[in-house]
Amino acid sequence: MATKASTNAPTLQPPAPAGETPRLQVEGLTRSFGGRPVVKDVSLTVMPGQVTCLLGPSGCGKSTTLRIIAGVETADAGRVIVDGEEMTAPGLHVPPERRGIGLMFQDFALFPHLSVAENVAFGLTSGSRAEKRARVEELLRRVRLERYIDAYPHELSGGEQQRVALARALAPRPRVMLMDEPFSGLDNRLRDGIRDETLDILKEEGAAVLLVTHEPEEAMRMADEIALMRGGRIVQKGAPYNVYNAPVDQAAAAFFSDLN
Ligand code: ADP
Ligand code: MG
Repeated sequence: MATKASTNAPTLQPPAPAGETPRLQVEGLTRSFGGRPVVKDVSLTVMPGQVTCLLGPSGCGKSTTLRIIAGVETADAGRVIVDGEEMTAPGLHVPPERRGIGLMFQDFALFPHLSVAENVAFGLTSGSRAEKRARVEELLRRVRLERYIDAYPHELSGGEQQRVALARALAPRPRVMLMDEPFSGLDNRLRDGIRDETLDILKEEGAAVLLVTHEPEEAMRMADEIALMRGGRIVQKGAPYNVYNAPVDQAAAAFFSDLN
């Protein structure tokens, strides 16, 4: 629910292209733990169908930022707005399940006692049984796992489980997908293929994606926009090519230096 205050709040982002509302708007997020600031005045915007990578070294506050956007962690200050609707604001906390946000976190395993179909259907709370089944089949076709529809997670490889997790997260048609290092558990041989495939599916589904990674290569490969984070702050934002070619400072250049 938009409040009057939000309408009058200063805009921290460049204006969106005419006619387009940002799917995700984050303004001035701030969070301390035990008096130690961990997220400092983080602002970003993600348009529908766009992938923004929150990129930075371990410990810089990426996961905390994502957790606040998801609603599983609270902010000390700032706003989270999805499709123009306030989710986090002073005195307001919309619970995670009502944010229209899909999550794929590093440690978000499949439910081992549920079949692949049941895992994918898990977040489908509305619709008839036939509609749910159709959506599950559609997504499993898309991740090329329809033959495993009645299998159990332990029968699948790591990469296959990852694709089921993606199907599960996308099943309820989330407005925003938050992904925290979703490929870090996969071995190198599989990773590139799964990244590309995931990107194709995300684009088809049209969600706004905020993907956290500490690997510049992953951000360069997947992002429409990179938000470079360090010490709790976003220090640079831009298209991958621009961030890579015109790093804001020495530390940013060093961070990208392994890439060639
Ligand atoms: P990243 O995902 O970039 O590695 P995190 O957001 O996980 O960084 O963590 C940023 C900092 O905040 C770390 O120093 C971490 O120890 C600290 N931190 C995260 N969550 C908590 C918490 N619940 N309590 C105390 N400190 C935390
Ligand atoms: Mg993290």
